[in-house]
Amino acid sequence: MRNEYSILPFTFKRLPHRKMLMVNQSGEFTFVSSDDFNNLLNHDLVADNSTYFELKGKHFLADTDLDIAQEMVATQLRSRKSFLRHFSSLHMIVVTARCNFICDYCHASSAALEQQKVDMNWAVAKKTVELIFSSPSPVLKIEFQGGEPLLNWPIIKEIVQYGIFLNRFAKRQLEFVICTNLTLLTEEMIDFIKEHKITISTSLDGPKLIQDLHRKTREGYSGYDVFHSNLQRLREGIGQDGASALLTITKSNLSRLQEVIDHYVELGFDGVFLRALNPYGFARQNMEQLGYSVEEFVGEYKNILRYLIELNLQGIPFAEYYTTLLFQRILTPFSTGFVDLQSPSGAAISGVIYDYNGEVYPTDEARMLARTGDRRFKMGHVLKNSYEELFAGALVKKLVKKSCIEVLPGCASCVYQAYCGVDPIRNYVETKDIVGHRPSSDFCKKNTMILDHLFQLIDENDPDVMDVFWSWITRRPLEEIRHDKFNRNSS
Ligand code: SF4
Repeated sequence: MRNEYSILPFTFKRLPHRKMLMVNQSGEFTFVSSDDFNNLLNHDLVADNSTYFELKGKHFLADTDLDIAQEMVATQLRSRKSFLRHFSSLHMIVVTARCNFICDYCHASSAALEQQKVDMNWAVAKKTVELIFSSPSPVLKIEFQGGEPLLNWPIIKEIVQYGIFLNRFAKRQLEFVICTNLTLLTEEMIDFIKEHKITISTSLDGPKLIQDLHRKTREGYSGYDVFHSNLQRLREGIGQDGASALLTITKSNLSRLQEVIDHYVELGFDGVFLRALNPYGFARQNMEQLGYSVEEFVGEYKNILRYLIELNLQGIPFAEYYTTLLFQRILTPFSTGFVDLQSPSGAAISGVIYDYNGEVYPTDEARMLARTGDRRFKMGHVLKNSYEELFAGALVKKLVKKSCIEVLPGCASCVYQAYCGVDPIRNYVETKDIVGHRPSSDFCKKNTMILDHLFQLIDENDPDVMDVFWSWITRRPLEEIRHDKFNRNSS
């Protein structure tokens, strides 16, 4: 006899050992045996075993409570999509295209030091800040980029001061970040950074030999030596936590990631974002020298994840941020708001970039495409267009419409859809189509392999490993996580 229950929408994947991974629309997941899976679909599951109650509790099926179950899934989905309420909160300003470095993998194809015409002027900067304050977002993060932004320090200061002035009336949570190679840092800058609680994002690819290999100064001196001494000076001024570092992974440091992590720990950083090389700018031209396959990247990712777990278990707290982000999405119901993993895409609606000349682009990649003569993703100009024209124009509407993962070919039925995201500009760069064919892209291959690995770890459920991941998700010390668990288990 057919058992009376409704099956709610979900996606699934067959795992080894006759297991199925099921994920529903709001990102709740479960593992079931193939037999239970078939019984569920054939309405043969009976309401007297733990699988039935697990599937009901996680909203894969509903019996007498269909309306309530649908409402629950809708509520969870709304909270996962709550980043949409913080419309355009990340505002990146390219204050100059000049740079004192000429890195082999530079996305921005930087200009030489004497080309001051590629510096942002005050008319453009002032209007940019006013546009930023037109955003409805309660959080406004202004990130200074380049080139090397410190080369146009006076404009950074003016933007910060004007932003603080406007915020007296706007009362938003206003944050500033400077992305800098640190080599041009002066005492006056450190004082200003400290006074205005600006955070610093710098770049570190590893110890001196690795760092200087692809991050080259135009004048030929070792960038690492200056970076190292300025990092110490900066920390003396603003504290240990005021600076984080970004790692670019090339063929040169991919197989030496353990050495790289050890160097991060030695310099007092407590985390790293393992970023695969993106195919833009010089990186695209130099792929032969710098690139690697997705399989090579994910192989090293798995090795280094194991190493990081060991470090944490030995009492050295150190997180990997991409893993943390994915686990936040898998294990918690909250919105993470990471621009690269959003649906619809975070391009323009979560982050936006203002070029030195006032042109506005949904992402840095769109800006780089314009440098090569393809301006199809230009949203407008700060001196010519209103906030509404820029952010509610045809281009942004098209990007949103074409970047909903829930309906994209291949992604619509993918088990990892709830944890993944869309980058229409990257799709265009790779396939000349903003929808593209994502399941055959390197991005998809990489994310699928990483998520397969993370779900394998969840399924193995090693308490030590899961405690480390929870300490990353909650940003709490491992001992506290274990102490709480012990108290829960003994009460
Ligand atoms: S990009 Fe790949 S992993 Fe992500 S949802 Fe689409 S098919 Fe799945």
